[in-house]
Order: sequence, then structure tokens, then C-alpha cells
Amino acid sequence: MHEIEKLVRENIRSLSPYSTARDEYQGTPGVFLDANENPFPGELGFNRYPDPRQKALKARVSALKGLPVENIFLGNGSDEAIDLMYRIFCTPGQDNALVIAPSYGMYTVAADINDVRVRSIHLGPDFSLPVDAIRIATDKHTKLLFLCSPNNPSGNAFSPETLLSLTENFPGIVVLDEAYADFSARGSLRTKVLRYRNLVVLQTFSKAYGMAGIRLGMAFADSYVIELMNRVKYPYNISQPAQDMALEALAYTPEEEVAVIIRERTRLAGALPAFRFVRKVWPSDANFLLVRVDDADALYNFLLERGIIVRNRSRIKGCEKCLRITVGTPEENDKLLNALSDYEKSHLRRP
Ligand code: PMP
Repeated sequence: MHEIEKLVRENIRSLSPYSTARDEYQGTPGVFLDANENPFPGELGFNRYPDPRQKALKARVSALKGLPVENIFLGNGSDEAIDLMYRIFCTPGQDNALVIAPSYGMYTVAADINDVRVRSIHLGPDFSLPVDAIRIATDKHTKLLFLCSPNNPSGNAFSPETLLSLTENFPGIVVLDEAYADFSARGSLRTKVLRYRNLVVLQTFSKAYGMAGIRLGMAFADSYVIELMNRVKYPYNISQPAQDMALEALAYTPEEEVAVIIRERTRLAGALPAFRFVRKVWPSDANFLLVRVDDADALYNFLLERGIIVRNRSRIKGCEKCLRITVGTPEENDKLLNALSDYEKSHLRRP
């Protein structure tokens, strides 16, 4: 069993968190004169502070995800949870974190903001997980290992056995980002947080659940880690509109939309290699495809002129000449394929 208590920064272990007006009462009072709010609800009815612990929403998420509320943190996007990992576990200027590369950029940006050194471990051929390199890069100041499965931007999911054996052997906290797990046949490892005390699994409502606009992310972890996250977060980190809308939206699961997206992913993955300028399309467990082309900048600009925006990843090591294309609606994907046909025609006409 990992002794994760020893990994926590001293100042965080001894932190007395801010206690909100809403934390301090029990029961159901009708008159709120405790939080210096405007007592008039106005037209929108958002004059009151939201529940700082998001009890109603967490109960719903708990039922949906099959984990007790004590093992669930809700954040302002999963980006908030990423930042909290550094703030809780890494002493600035002293500790370090391992990130795989290429992967989601916020792991490194959040480290830079927190003055934590990052060691980038490059993925192997076809973006495989470099287990030995991770072991070798770990030292006594390594507190975090960020893994992303399915990985952004490569799209592949790693084997659960490898992820769990890495977790078992890693002396720090393993943050497994499953933002795209709903699109993967491999599913999720979130319930493993009940067994592996050093595992933190991140998920989000921004992808399959179609709620990127409300900013709601989840972290699943040992109840001790969740309690630390609750202590360090801003007191009212999830707004009332976000809590309300998420509760409403979670009456429905996105299975049908996910099925369409997966079908469209297969269609695009089948169609793209037929273009002469496409060099490689990697298999994807996510809702996007990484595509290597002969001239990424030219194609990116061509698509932009046609009003189609994709992500140019060609300047990232390991993704040279690559665009990352999100799977859209069937109509959007038709537009993309038409634009690619036009690009091919104009391309081939050139001397
Ligand atoms: N993790 C990964 C792998 C992502 O790609 C993204 C966003 N693109 C996020 C986390 C951030 O998600 P959220 O909207 O929940 O902050």
C-alpha cells in the first residue's frame, strides 16, 4: 500500500482551509443572512453562492460513475484538477513531474506556472508507453506521473495491465487522464482508485457529454486525496448555473451521440488514406484522428480558408507534419472530405 501522506507538501498537510458561510450551518434554515449576498433573487435567481461541496451533483455523478462521493472531486474543467495536483504534491523549485510526450499540453503549462520541473518521456514507436524510460527518469523528487489514455494527440489507449503495473511500481502519484475514455473500447480504470491509493483518474464532461461550455471536470481518487483537493480548491469553484445545467443534462447519457462519433471516426479513418497527400492515419480510441500529410501548414491554411479549423500539431516532436482532426457531425465530416478532395485537385495541378 502506498503511503501517499508522505508525498503531500508540508504546507498543504497543515493547511487550515477557508471555511465558507455555507460550510458552517447544518439543517435547512430559510433566512440566509450569513454570506453578504444581495437578498433579492433578480430575474436569473443566482444571488446566492452555490453549494461549495456540490452535494446534489456529486450524488448524481456517484450513481453515474459507480464510486462513493468521498472518492469524487468536481472541478472547473479537469484543468483545475491538473493544477491542484501540482499545488498539493510538488514543492516549487524542488520536486519534479514526469509527463509523456507528445501529450496534452496543460500538464507542462501547469507545472511551469507552479515552478515545478517537468521531465518529458517520449513515447515509443507508434506512441507506445515507454515503461523503462519512466522508471529510469524517476528520482526521489519525482512526485507526479501524468498519463493520458486515450492519449491526446496520438489517439491511442494504453493497455490497462501496463497502466496498473506502472501505478503499482511508481513511488509518487499517477494521474491518469481519461478525458476521451468514453470513446474507447478499453473503458475506464476509475474504480481502481479504491485499490491503488496513488492513482488519480481524471474525466471530464467536456468531451462525450457535450458540456465543454459549462466547465466541469472530475477527479476520482482515494478519499484522502479528494479531501486535500477540496481543501485547496477555491471555495465556490463550480458555479450555480454549471451545477444546475449539469444535473439537468445528466438525466441523459450520450450513448447515441458517442455511437455516431465512433461510426464517423471509422468512416474518416477509412476515407483519409485514399488522399494522395495523406501519409498516415493512426488508429484512434478517441474522438479525433492524428493524420500525417505531406505539407501540414499548407493543408491547415487551405482548410482555414474554407472555414474548417483543425489543430496543427506539426511543430510538436513526434507529430511532425501532423494535423489533429476532431470527428464532427456527419455533415461536417462531409464538408471536410469535400475540402480535402478540392485540396488534392489543386495540389495535383501544381507543377
Ligand atoms: N485532458 C485532456 C487529455 C484534454 O485533451 C483536455 C482538453 N482538450 C482536457 C483534459 C481538459 O478538459 P476540461 O475541458 O475538462 O478542462
